[in-house]
Amino acid sequence: MKIVIAMLKHETNTFSPLPTPLESLGPNGGPLRGTEAYDHFKGTRIPMGAFIDLAEEIGAEIVIPVAARCAPSGPVAQDAFEQVTQEICDCVAQGCDALFLDLHGAMVTEGCEDGEGGMLERIRRAAPDVPIGVGLDFHANMSERMVRNCDVAVGYKTYPHMDMYEAGYRAGQLLLDMIAGKITPRLSFANCPILPNILRQATEESPMKEIMARASALETGNVLAISVFPAFPLADTSHTRLSVLTVTDGAAEAGRQVCREVLDLAWEQREGFVYENAPYKESVARAKTLDEGPVILLDMADNCNSGGTLDAMALVREALDQGLENVLAGPIYDPEAVAALVGAGIGSDVTVPIGGKFDLDAIGRPGEPLVLTGRVKRISNGRFVVRGPVFTGMQVDLGRTVVLDTGPMEIVVCEGRVEPLDLDMFRFVGIEPLDKRYIVLKSKIQYRPTFGAIAKHVIECNAVGVGSADFGQFPYKALTRPIYPLDEGATFSNEP
Ligand SMILES: [Zn+2]
Repeated sequence: MKIVIAMLKHETNTFSPLPTPLESLGPNGGPLRGTEAYDHFKGTRIPMGAFIDLAEEIGAEIVIPVAARCAPSGPVAQDAFEQVTQEICDCVAQGCDALFLDLHGAMVTEGCEDGEGGMLERIRRAAPDVPIGVGLDFHANMSERMVRNCDVAVGYKTYPHMDMYEAGYRAGQLLLDMIAGKITPRLSFANCPILPNILRQATEESPMKEIMARASALETGNVLAISVFPAFPLADTSHTRLSVLTVTDGAAEAGRQVCREVLDLAWEQREGFVYENAPYKESVARAKTLDEGPVILLDMADNCNSGGTLDAMALVREALDQGLENVLAGPIYDPEAVAALVGAGIGSDVTVPIGGKFDLDAIGRPGEPLVLTGRVKRISNGRFVVRGPVFTGMQVDLGRTVVLDTGPMEIVVCEGRVEPLDLDMFRFVGIEPLDKRYIVLKSKIQYRPTFGAIAKHVIECNAVGVGSADFGQFPYKALTRPIYPLDEGATFSNEP
């Protein structure tokens, strides 16, 4: 058996000023291919890793034409999308028994608001008989077109994402069962007009906790997989909204019934998806009253995994202005500052503008660098392997990384944009997060199993950035209206 495994994984924040060219879609200046991709993803706890394991377990020949991914940013360049899609099409058209795809589900390209839908449609056309199984992120903005053009799709069930491997494995396994004639998968899909705030999507909390519990109870018998997608609200598309996808063995009506039941519950619980927070200056003042650290100041608005530039300095500036001490901040994406700091060398005292290199046009804010004076404490090549519980085994490359010590604050500045996904993110440059009183961390929910586990307190701060939790800031154009909670007139009738 010959299995093609491929990846084009991008969560697109349509409000982000960061471009997404082909060169950004991989660790070494572009997508990985063949053995390089195999070596990079073999053993990782993400769908790609699961697909490789599954194919090896059944002794299949594996072909990896292309594996492309990067941190969330603005729409994917059209030529990059065309090239990666074409490489997959060409590969499957040469003949194979199955295609496993590791996709996100919220990709927007310069020319297409439904990146995955467009891609799957083209692959289907290139090789109509090849069975396609897809692993998807929990934040997929699922579309009818995606559903129509694959045989099996399974999304993560957790946020923070702890089951990325399991979701991929399940998708692959169901596709193999189909090929073996054991099941006849049918996909059912439906959505409802809710735009859930990302801060209200954690699966250990209401309302997702109850919704996922209901879905899990219904996943039995011929209902083989239920994926609930609360959506990625910062991708402004016509299909951005909460949705449910089921895979049933035949029994399409059972799948439709499950979709209805889960959506009814979501609509009933819709007020739980609304997030409100105090002005961030008040949040920092509150953090100052806490007597035990580490206190995490969560810089939610500039969260890289929501498409933030990772260089918005408003919260860092506020922490210093209010006189917080023993602060750790970062990583901040700023290749220009890195060059200046590396040029100065370890031990030098320098004054440099840090961050704020991007204008945030969508929310009407110019880039605002923060001029800091301090001593260059450490310089690293920025490479390490994640040892923690999430993204375990992933090779991370932050590019050249510098620690600047300003006295009250140690700030980590680097050439790459990576979510603070593990404590190793700071330990590899000799900083122990446990010893810090405050940590300014650019994350929303995903930090919880790692930094959350060591925090004495977490203060959610909605400062400045294109990942803001305040939907009112964003100029939505494509979104289908009315939608809750943006519009008063949003209604949902779930009759068959
Ligand atoms: Zn996600």
